[in-house]
Amino acid sequence: MNILFFGPNGSGKGTQGAMVKEKFNIPHIETGVIFRDNISRGTTLGKEAKGYIDRGELVPDRITIPMILDRLKEDDCTKGWLLDGFPRNLTQAEALDKALKQEGIGLDIVIEIVLDRQIAKNRIMGRRLCVNDNNHPNNIYIEAIRPNGDKCRVCGGDLKTRSDDQDEGAIDKRHNIYYDDKTGTVAAINYFKNVSGRSNGFPRIIELDGKPGVKEVAADLQARLT
Ligand code: AMP
Repeated sequence: MNILFFGPNGSGKGTQGAMVKEKFNIPHIETGVIFRDNISRGTTLGKEAKGYIDRGELVPDRITIPMILDRLKEDDCTKGWLLDGFPRNLTQAEALDKALKQEGIGLDIVIEIVLDRQIAKNRIMGRRLCVNDNNHPNNIYIEAIRPNGDKCRVCGGDLKTRSDDQDEGAIDKRHNIYYDDKTGTVAAINYFKNVSGRSNGFPRIIELDGKPGVKEVAADLQARLT
């Protein structure tokens, strides 16, 4: 099962993505996680990417596109993958579509979490990361996943913020990229919706309303994946 997962920063995409990964037992490939891992290990890729990430800009396509296309060739991807955070613009969408066609790989599902821009922004600023597991959901502005005091609600681990989560200017820049329907992420989503429209609904498009709480969105997604 090959799945693309879209949603603006702050839509709960990472949390829902973890659920989809479990359900299909496929690797959850998150571009942002790969970059942050490279930054913490001090790799050349990490050093190159850090400035762009801190400013809320996209890491250039010449770095990002080959990094992801190479990742999809790794052994764990043979039974499928869940791509999260890629493609983030129209150029990446076209490059991915072309690469998949060349390899004879089909795309099965495109999931999009639809969320108002202002709500997404508030959610990012409330996000807290567990030092033990990035997938433990904690947000000081969302009742259902509020931390336990200043500790992780799942495991009691220490919490930290991501530097780019607290920078309003960087958040606005990221959302400008996401909501851009000419060349940005919404344009990438529309690209695959057009592919689906031309190919008898393949890939299947699943649009989710991101406004309700995490549990409701997860239930909606579960129901529509069966
Ligand atoms: P995320 O964790 O998905 O919010 O990503 C954090 C940052 O990584 C983004 O703000 C970008 O700077 C960079 N990034 C993530 N995905 C991509 C992508 N597909 N293309 C370029 N840069 C990306």
